[in-house]
Amino acid sequence: MNKAYIAFGSNIGDRHKAVEDAFVMIEQRGMRITAKSKMYETEPYGYTDQPPFLNGAIEVETHLNCRETLKALLDIENDIGRVRLIRWGPRIIDLDILMFNDEVHDEEDLKVPHTDMVNRQFVLEPLNDICPDKIHPLLNVTIRDLLENLKK
Ligand code: ATP
Ligand code: MG
Ligand code: MG
Repeated sequence: MNKAYIAFGSNIGDRHKAVEDAFVMIEQRGMRITAKSKMYETEPYGYTDQPPFLNGAIEVETHLNCRETLKALLDIENDIGRVRLIRWGPRIIDLDILMFNDEVHDEEDLKVPHTDMVNRQFVLEPLNDICPDKIHPLLNVTIRDLLENLKK
């Protein structure tokens, strides 16, 4: 059984509904949600002229491999009605793989662990709710330490 950590974010429409719909679809596609972070209201990152986000993270168990998981998440984004206009722009739902077991993938369309997670408080804070002791497979430090470091 594989264990994955997934970040979610939403900043247009009914954000709570989009996230709840995503959880249902995630379970329907063969991932079992085993932990959920708190929900965080956060200011936009990158492209800042847009509404605030609802962010969080979940832990899932799945028989899907990492690429199948990516495909499932992108399908769910589309099913919920995501349209990509500007990089880091407003979105009804974003679902990113943060870590997948201790695997490392470095392909154009699949980078795991998620490249920018260590720089994002809106990712590390929720991740710290559900797996503070998990060790980042490339950096060999815990999520708790990554978060503390970022806050300094
Ligand atoms: P960021 O990845 O910086 O948070 P984003 O989530 O807004 O940006 P998207 O538009 O959601 O970016 O995704 C663009 C592409 O990123 C996807 O089509 C996917 O192939 C690729 N991608 C690479 N690594 C990952 C990953 N770990 N999780 C999700 N998508 C990924
Ligand atoms: Mg993202
Ligand atoms: Mg994404």
